[in-house]
Amino acid sequence: MEIQRLIPFPIVFEITDDLIGSVQKALFESFPDTQRILIVSDAEGAKSYGEYLVKALNTCCYMFIKGGTIVDVRNVEAKIKKEAPDLVLGIGGGRILDTVKLASSRTYIPFVLVPTSLSHDGIISPVAVIDFDGEVRSVGAIAPNGVVVDIGIIEKAPKILKLAGCGDLISNLSALEDWKLAAKYKGEKIDYFAYMLSKTGARNIIFSEYEPFSRNFLKDLAEGLAASGLSMIIAGNSRPASGAEHLISHALDIILGRKNPHGIQVGVATIFTQALRGKDTGKIIEFYKKIGFPLSPMEIGVDRETFMEAVKLAPATRKGRFTILDIKNSKEVLNEAFDVYYRI
Ligand SMILES: [Zn+2]
Repeated sequence: MEIQRLIPFPIVFEITDDLIGSVQKALFESFPDTQRILIVSDAEGAKSYGEYLVKALNTCCYMFIKGGTIVDVRNVEAKIKKEAPDLVLGIGGGRILDTVKLASSRTYIPFVLVPTSLSHDGIISPVAVIDFDGEVRSVGAIAPNGVVVDIGIIEKAPKILKLAGCGDLISNLSALEDWKLAAKYKGEKIDYFAYMLSKTGARNIIFSEYEPFSRNFLKDLAEGLAASGLSMIIAGNSRPASGAEHLISHALDIILGRKNPHGIQVGVATIFTQALRGKDTGKIIEFYKKIGFPLSPMEIGVDRETFMEAVKLAPATRKGRFTILDIKNSKEVLNEAFDVYYRI
């Protein structure tokens, strides 16, 4: 019988103003035997930080990729096999980080991630979103050994990506309600540690006392997204941070292609799913207005018809994930939720 758990948590999480110093310190303290580092980044990351990092960390090799596809994952795996690094350092946006996550997991090489934006809670999660020849899938992976967030870099990212990070975090409120429904109707077990961390992550940003997108606000966002990622590590899957609103976003991706950032779509869909379950959406809408977050699908170029098509398709995008859409799915009820809550 198992009486305690051993959970593979990252050993380093740092929010910093000094990327090189923090990465050097993390390597020295937590990965002291590291001799050979493979850096993987996109061209943008390479231009901004690449040479600098290569010199400062005395890396063995460097690789640029666009990221996000299974072909990229295979290319990174091949590079790992060829160069035999002790550690992989991924620097870039979500696509780069997810590629490094999966390639390093499949080759059992420790990896440290340096996000250049905070657009979703995948920075610390055990999940990688990868495009398999046109079909985008969330794949189980090993959580990173370390994550270093440089607020100076994050500050420079486009506003839409910062908004997306907020949306992905707020969507936890909807995901947790779905988890409760799955427990009630399907006997799914709620892991309270995971539940608590996911909720705390969302509250960390919704109740942030700082000016939206100031450095301190971004620190709150980074901490919230980290808490959300840890909740998924504890649960062993994405349940604490992915409910009906994520399924709607997956469906939108299928119908429209990846048109809007993930966090923007799930944040907009959260208003709908919360309204559908009869929850008060006042706090969420107040927060969205404060930060300039889109308040309806129309604001992100998705018309009513397409959104409702996505709602219909949503449950099929992830079979076995029980949500409010399995309970409230009559045309009248769905239309009412749309009309009442998106007409702002
Ligand atoms: Zn998400």
